[in-house]
Amino acid sequence: MFTLPLREPPSFILTIFVFFFLRCFVFPKLDPFAVSGDNNITFQDTTLHETHNIWFMMKHRRNRGIGWYGWMLASAWLLVSAPTTQAASTQPAPTKQTKNVFLNTVHRLMREHRGALREIQSQHKAIVKTWIQLSEIPAPSRQEAKKAAFLIQLMKQAGLQVRVDKKGNVIGQYTGTGPTPRKAIVVCAHMDTVFDLTVRHKVRRQGTRLFGPGVLDNTVGLVNMVVVARMLRKYKVKLQQDVWFVGTVQEEIGLKGAQYLVQQHKKRIAMMIALDGGYGGISYGGIGIHWYRIEFHGQARHTLSSMGKPSTTYAAARAITTIYQLKVPRKPRMQETWYNIGKLGGGKVVNAQAERAWFTVDLRSMNAQQLRRLEQKVFALARKAAKEAGVTVRIVTLQKMPAVQLPGMRQHKLVRGTAAILQAQKSKRIAIHPFGANDHCAGLAVGIPGINIGTTTGGSIHSLKEWAESKHVTRGIQQTYLLVLLMAGTGRTVTTPKTHR
Ligand SMILES: [Zn+2]
Repeated sequence: MFTLPLREPPSFILTIFVFFFLRCFVFPKLDPFAVSGDNNITFQDTTLHETHNIWFMMKHRRNRGIGWYGWMLASAWLLVSAPTTQAASTQPAPTKQTKNVFLNTVHRLMREHRGALREIQSQHKAIVKTWIQLSEIPAPSRQEAKKAAFLIQLMKQAGLQVRVDKKGNVIGQYTGTGPTPRKAIVVCAHMDTVFDLTVRHKVRRQGTRLFGPGVLDNTVGLVNMVVVARMLRKYKVKLQQDVWFVGTVQEEIGLKGAQYLVQQHKKRIAMMIALDGGYGGISYGGIGIHWYRIEFHGQARHTLSSMGKPSTTYAAARAITTIYQLKVPRKPRMQETWYNIGKLGGGKVVNAQAERAWFTVDLRSMNAQQLRRLEQKVFALARKAAKEAGVTVRIVTLQKMPAVQLPGMRQHKLVRGTAAILQAQKSKRIAIHPFGANDHCAGLAVGIPGINIGTTTGGSIHSLKEWAESKHVTRGIQQTYLLVLLMAGTGRTVTTPKTHR
C-alpha cells in the first residue's frame, strides 16, 4: 500500500532538515536562483568543480525544468515514501492508539469515584492479608470446594447475592438499576491452581514480594474481584447492568467452569472480563489448545528375557525425539504455533520392560489449520515410532480448546476502555494482544466479547517458585473497578457515601 509522506510528519520534517543541511553545508555555493533565462549557470565560487555536483548536472541539462525546490520536494517525497511503502507491506498494523476516545470518560470516572479509589489504596494491608489467607487454601482443579467456601464468605460480606452452580462456580451478583431485562457483565477469576494437595501452600513474604503456589495464578484475581464488589456496595454505585463476580472452577484443565457458565447463561451474558495474569496486559483472543496423552502398550518382560524384544519406553523416547525436530511457524503472529511435552512416565519396576510408557503433548496455535496440521504430524510420528518399536499406540484426548478470534474484538470498548484506564493510570506496560488461554476464551467461543486482564506483576507461575508483587496490587484492583463502571454504565450521577473519611 502506498502511503503519502505527509502522514508521517516526523520523517518528512527530518527529510526537509537533511535537505537544508545539504543545501547549507554540502553545496553551500549552489544558489538555486542562479539559473538565468539565457542558460547561464552562475557559481559564486568557481573552484567548485561542476561535474562533481549532481545539482549542477541536473540543472545544466534541465535549467528550465522543475527547479531546485521541485527536485527537493520530489526527492523528499521519494525518500519518505519508499521506506514507508516497504514497512506497510511487511509489518502488522500498529496497535498503538493515537487518541483513545475513552480517556475523557475514564478521567471523569476517576474524579467522580475518587473516594472509592482512594479507599482501595488505603486498604492495601487488609487486601494483602486476605490474599495470603486465600492463597494458603489448596485448590487443585476439581477440588476447589474449600477455597470456594471462603470466597462465598467474602462475597457475602461484600453484599453480593451468592449462588453456586452445578459445576461449582461461585456467582456473586451485584444487581444493576437499569431497565429490565438487564444483561450481565461477568467479572471472573479462577479458583483452581495447578498444585495438588501434597504441595505446601504456605505464603512467604520477601520484601514486598509474596512467594507461594497460586499466589499470582490466580488468587490475586479472586481478591481483586471481591474488593471491587465491596467498593461498589459501600459507595452505593448505581450500575445500569448487573455484574456477576464469578469464581470459576477447573480453568487449569480446559476452562471447564467458564464453559459451563456460558452454556447456562449464553443469552444473559453481555461480556466477560477474566482476571488472570500480569497487570498491563490485555488479551482479546484465544489460542487453540489441544492436549493429548500418547500411550505405548506392550508386554512386560524380565530384563533377562527382554533383549531384542519390542519396548514401549523405546517407542516413547523415539517419538519424543522426532516430535522435537518438528518445525512450526513462529511468525506471523496469527500463525504462531507451539508444542511441548510436559509429562512422561511408564513402567513399574527397574528390572522389567514397561508394559506401558506415555507422555503428554500440549499443542497450541493461533491458527486452527496450523494446529490441525501439527496434530496430524505428531500423531503420525507416534504411530511410526510404535511401528518401529513393535508396540501399539493409543492417543487419549485430554482437552481441546479451539483457536478463537472474535471479529472486531481488537476495537471493542472492552479493549479500548481498558487501554484508556491503563493510560490514565500511567502504566508503563500496555500490551494488547490476541493470545489468550483464560476464562474469557470460553465466552469468545460462543460469540460473547471478552478480555483477560491482570492485577499485578510477578512470575514463575505453575512452578513452586511462583511469586507476585504486592506493592502495586491496589492499582490492578482500581483498574478493574474503573472497567466495571465503564462497561456496566453509571450514568452521570454517582452517590458518594458519607461514611468515607
Ligand atoms: Zn490462571
